[in-house]
Amino acid sequence: MKIIFLGPPGAGKGTYSSRIGRILKIPQISTGDIFREAVKQGTELGKKVAGYMKLGKLVPDEITIEILEARINQPDCDKGFILDGYPRTIQQAEALDKAVKVDIVFNLLVPEDILIKKLSARRVCTTCGEIYNVADIKEIINGVKYDMPPMLPKIPGICDKCGGELVQRKDDTVDVIKERLSVYKRQTEPLIVYYKKKDLLADIYVNTGPDIMIPKIMAKLKTLNVS
Ligand code: AMP
Repeated sequence: MKIIFLGPPGAGKGTYSSRIGRILKIPQISTGDIFREAVKQGTELGKKVAGYMKLGKLVPDEITIEILEARINQPDCDKGFILDGYPRTIQQAEALDKAVKVDIVFNLLVPEDILIKKLSARRVCTTCGEIYNVADIKEIINGVKYDMPPMLPKIPGICDKCGGELVQRKDDTVDVIKERLSVYKRQTEPLIVYYKKKDLLADIYVNTGPDIMIPKIMAKLKTLNVS
């Protein structure tokens, strides 16, 4: 099973892909996590990508495609994988098509007002990358009710999974968030048409928390005839 989660920053790609990955027992691959770890470790890759990430720009395709291809060739990807934050350009999608057959692309749809609120309230574990959110969103936008409860750790500031420290991501500041949203519209949104044409796109309107959304996504996966 090869699954892609597409959607703007803050739509929930990381949360959904990690939870679905745990259910299906296949790895979640986040190029953002790989790059952040490289920056943290101060590797050559980290030095190359840090500047782009800080500004909310995309890391160049040559670097990103090489990293992703090396990752999906690891043995733990034999039974499939979930991509979170890749592809982000048509060139990346074309490279992926040459390497594997994608089964489904979940397109997470969330209004921009809510994305900004969610990104500003996101907290991540510095050790394992688990995602939390302190925003409690209850709004009606264009007649649609958004009821997205906070995803809080049991002890404030501490990860439930590993006890690591929870922090705000350096690129989750208002200016960088705005740039990331504009980069998404310009460079990544064309992928919606790209995958629609291939008949792989499944739109998911996210207006509630993952506990309610995950069963809907799992139900859709069960309709696919993939082992
Ligand atoms: P994310 O954690 O997915 O929000 O990614 C954080 C940052 O990493 C992005 O703003 C980009 O700078 C970089 N990045 C992650 N994935 C990609 C990708 N597929 N292509 C280019 N840059 C990426």
